[in-house]
Amino acid sequence: MAEDYYELLGVPKSATAEEIKKAYRKKAVQYHPDKNPGNKEAEEKFKKIAQAYEILGDPQKRSTYDQVGSAAFDGSGGFSGANFSANDFGSAFDIFNQVFGSFGGQQRGNKREMQGDDLRYDLEITLDEAFNGAERTIKYHRAVACKECGGNGCAKGTKPTICPTCHGKGNVTVNRGFFQMSQTCPTCHGVGHVNKNACKACGGSGRSSEGHSIRIKIPPGVETGTRLRSAGGGEGGSCGARDGDLYVAVHVRADEHFHREGANLYVNVDVPFSMLTLGGELEVKTIDGFGMLKIPAGTQSETTFRLKGKGMPHMGASYRGDQFVKVRCFIPTGLSKEQREKLEAFAQSCGESREAKEGFFQRIFH
Ligand SMILES: [Zn+2]
Ligand SMILES: [Zn+2]
Repeated sequence: MAEDYYELLGVPKSATAEEIKKAYRKKAVQYHPDKNPGNKEAEEKFKKIAQAYEILGDPQKRSTYDQVGSAAFDGSGGFSGANFSANDFGSAFDIFNQVFGSFGGQQRGNKREMQGDDLRYDLEITLDEAFNGAERTIKYHRAVACKECGGNGCAKGTKPTICPTCHGKGNVTVNRGFFQMSQTCPTCHGVGHVNKNACKACGGSGRSSEGHSIRIKIPPGVETGTRLRSAGGGEGGSCGARDGDLYVAVHVRADEHFHREGANLYVNVDVPFSMLTLGGELEVKTIDGFGMLKIPAGTQSETTFRLKGKGMPHMGASYRGDQFVKVRCFIPTGLSKEQREKLEAFAQSCGESREAKEGFFQRIFH
């Protein structure tokens, strides 16, 4: 009974908590009953390792152990709550579960249901595709029920038997000191039954991976954050249960020309000083072509105009958002001598001398 816990885990007395945890994981995997079916020696060793880790993995218990030795934990000692007898098979697994997380697939309720999990696929599209809608073929891998055994993990001609530990419930109640905890059954990992003869194709897991592709329609008007659901496109269900769904999460790539907010589009356009001053017609690029904008004479820089109905479509609707065009005054550079003289003459006619240029621009822009 007085086994050296450090020796059991193969670590020195000076080992850090991390080293102890690592050593435990390694040994626990090595001696795990799943890996050593029917091997009583390995099972015994696994329990001892778990016992050693229950003590050394807890700083307080480890300190007590270092001072008093394993006698403190032998059942007659003060740790009656945490103590477990060597034939309490559940406890050994229980610690294993705490360290490794629960076994197997996703738990739903107490007993693991066989319905396939949902999957998520991230899809990036352009703003043009978001405007027009698109079709894409999506290729991915998903877990499905093993074709050989239909997902029950049993070899041909054999059947799963009701789990002797949980009697088919999939979970067990464990006493831990004052607490009663319900946990995934350590023997069947929550399935409720066990296989005596594992299917050769899937090794008893009941699952296999398959390449899958679906054609997906992206409706006009999708936005970043839109999720499209493909029913049955997720992981395959086992034993005839339904498949999970595939959720395609859409990301609309930022466009270099348009800024989008909901169904509205925003652009900035540089317009010559002369056009803002004299007025005119401006051709503006839209998401599906061009639109004409009437610029009234005397338009100030940074004025925003609206092209009604030239924005993005609303998803599932026939109407569109708007396009907002902010005009910015473009100041010409590199004037020719003639242009310069004419502009100076213009400035003078406005009652401005070159020295008073500041006043001239101030009047124009404020
Ligand atoms: Zn199989
Ligand atoms: Zn069970």
